[in-house]
Amino acid sequence: MKILRNYVNGKWIDASGGERINVYSPSSGERIAFSPRSHDEDVDLAVNAASEAFEGKEWQAFKPHERGALLFEMAGIIRASADELANLETLDTGKPISQARSDVEAAARYFEYYAGAADKVLGETIPVEPGILDYTMREPVGVTAHIIPWNYPIQVASRSCAAAIATGNTVVMKPAENTPLTAVKLAEMFEQTSLPPGVFNLVMGYGAEAGAALSAHPTVNHITFTGSVETGSAVMMAAARNIVPVTLELGGKSPNLVFADCDQELAADWVVKSILQNAGQTCSAGSRLLVEASVKDVFLKKVLKRMEKAVIGPGERDPDIGPILNGKQFERIEEFMKAVHDEGGSFLLGGARKPVEGYEGGYYFQPTVIDGLGPASKVAREEVFGPVLSVFSFETEEEAIRMANSTEYGLVTGIWTKDIARAHKVAEKVKAGQIFINNYGAGGGIQMPFGGYKKSGFGREKGLEALRNYTQLKNVAVRVY
Ligand code: NAD
Repeated sequence: MKILRNYVNGKWIDASGGERINVYSPSSGERIAFSPRSHDEDVDLAVNAASEAFEGKEWQAFKPHERGALLFEMAGIIRASADELANLETLDTGKPISQARSDVEAAARYFEYYAGAADKVLGETIPVEPGILDYTMREPVGVTAHIIPWNYPIQVASRSCAAAIATGNTVVMKPAENTPLTAVKLAEMFEQTSLPPGVFNLVMGYGAEAGAALSAHPTVNHITFTGSVETGSAVMMAAARNIVPVTLELGGKSPNLVFADCDQELAADWVVKSILQNAGQTCSAGSRLLVEASVKDVFLKKVLKRMEKAVIGPGERDPDIGPILNGKQFERIEEFMKAVHDEGGSFLLGGARKPVEGYEGGYYFQPTVIDGLGPASKVAREEVFGPVLSVFSFETEEEAIRMANSTEYGLVTGIWTKDIARAHKVAEKVKAGQIFINNYGAGGGIQMPFGGYKKSGFGREKGLEALRNYTQLKNVAVRVY
């Protein structure tokens, strides 16, 4: 049984109270590790270490290209341990091993991408008047907090900490209490590099304890959070008391808009992939299918055919659908299914637990397709976080846009049509941070700015845009003559 420890100021330490949290395998329900149950004083230690490291001579002396070289080194270490990392991610999250491998490769790519960016964070010179030289500098913000969700632990941890370190900040990371294993590996990997102690710190614990303490800490200068709207709002309120900026990525109810003229085979492949990936426990899951009424029946047959074939099982067997994280998340999905019954929806497929022999302790859910719900129903509006697709039809382009925009979320939208003018027009009218035309969530999108409109959050992760989260702008005006 693994006993995990916090990583603070380059040292591995238990939580000060000595308490531990059980970590379970979602595939089998068996306990796989103990992690420290950190409280205020543990968070305080980590934030102080990060603050001292930020001010310290060693980190301040790192040249931008040296930070880049260190991040490149991390990408290499991650690739060299890719199998080990993927196995740990599958053990911890239950996700199919091939999806875990893609996540690990994406993690390496984040380090590589931000390594290349480290010495390209530029200021400007601004024409003011003769004799005045005016220029801007993008400086690091200082101590950055990273609160990580359980659905894509290694990817989300890598994308934000690589960008923060590239720009010269220090990091305090809190992984989700359910999935700390790969974050610990990340700390072990940093330990193999020349990163000064205290630049990367890891504190484990419950959200309401360690997470809340980190969000409220007055020495933290920026918070990156991915998770639920409710918790994002709590994090933002804590940050507001300290006038600290936040980047919030809060999930969605993302639609695929399927027009009659599209390549229906391709669209069906992606509609299914976008809801089954990680058992639907994905912020950008394509959880709503909006299909043009004239092709609804034909298109649905294609979707159902693919969904019916989906294999369910433990992550290590590399099925199409792995388990749901835990009993709590499973019960949440079941409540949504009850709402479908209450609100007059019909199940075209699934809707219930799927027992998997030998893995009775895991929570497996059938791929599910629901029809007949009104746009105001619970399942049409709220994030289910399971392999559950709800189907709606539209008659006109205007109606499709209205339906796409009808939830409080706005993260991702897929548009499927061969009509290029329509594709761009719909992309313009849809309120979402990322639009995919004739593809969806393509290949990780390391380089593409990612984030939400409306309650899907604000600020952007990924791409060069994310560097803005971790820098603050200083303007310098000099009288030269
Ligand atoms: P959550 O938002 O509570 O947890 C996400 C992270 O926040 C975890 O690290 C958790 O420890 C931490 N956290 C929890 N409470 C906190 C607090 N008060 N202060 C600071 N940090 C805190 O999510 P959950 O309860 O694990 O899942 C519930 C629902 O949230 C899911 O069903 C899903 O709809 C959504 N969710 C979305 C994403 C996403 O990718 N956007 C990820 C996870 C969960």
